[in-house]
Amino acid sequence: MRLFEAIIDANHRAVAGDPNAGLHPADFADELPVIALTCVDPRLNAFFPNALALPAEQFIWLRNAGNIITGPLSSTMRSLALACAVKGGREIAIIGHTDCQVCKTTTIQLLDKLKELGVDRHVLPENLNEFFGMFSSERANVIKAAGIVRNSPLIGPNIPVHGLLLDTETGKLDWLVNGYEVWRKAPSSDDAARSSGPIAGALGSLGGFNIGEMKFPEGKIGDLATKGNNWLSQKPHMVGETVPGTPETKADVVKPVAVHAEQHWPKPPRIPVPPPIRPQPSFPTRRR
Ligand SMILES: [Zn+2]
Repeated sequence: MRLFEAIIDANHRAVAGDPNAGLHPADFADELPVIALTCVDPRLNAFFPNALALPAEQFIWLRNAGNIITGPLSSTMRSLALACAVKGGREIAIIGHTDCQVCKTTTIQLLDKLKELGVDRHVLPENLNEFFGMFSSERANVIKAAGIVRNSPLIGPNIPVHGLLLDTETGKLDWLVNGYEVWRKAPSSDDAARSSGPIAGALGSLGGFNIGEMKFPEGKIGDLATKGNNWLSQKPHMVGETVPGTPETKADVVKPVAVHAEQHWPKPPRIPVPPPIRPQPSFPTRRR
């Protein structure tokens, strides 16, 4: 049994009332620490890392409103990449939750709230849903985010990427995307995960060129969010302007980046949506 399989097993036993439910972190030393991206909802403060049966020091916690990943190179993606590279995170879990207020907020309500807060409509992009990454299904949002992370060129192919949903009534965790299964069952996603090759290879051909120096347009998060993912392929000249070197070496970089974006970013692999969870309000919430 691998780490998150053991975590889910322990969580389900705890929710069912087993006072001995838990896991021994020492058994999973090679898979710790884990990185979790959750929503900012304060109700989650009481659940993590308890609901995962993990000690706090093995739990790297990233949060944003709605546990949203807007694109394969977004700010949150960069934090996930740094959490792996700098803090040694071994596995990533995108953990959504039931009753998410981001999910329940309509575009009109969001505009009204922002207006109340003194944010004028004219300073906001036309498509607010794309810009903020708004969603109407907590489950679909997690599945989409896990797909973007899995296929981001910033995440190495050996980092499992899971998607989970926490029931805020019971503390029960359920699989939405089993990162181990995705890895074993889908050779195509394996290829996709390794498809950072064209970018890495092209960048490597420039010797001292550092990806940190590539200035992707910061104001384009909304574009990246959905239709988005193909902005790069539509605007190779924008990348070209930021890449040092001769026209030939620029072309070496820009072309594979555009091809990669076209092939992988617009269409993350489709993962079937599991059936809805039946509410089990009678289960007591137990902590270890
Ligand atoms: Zn939320």
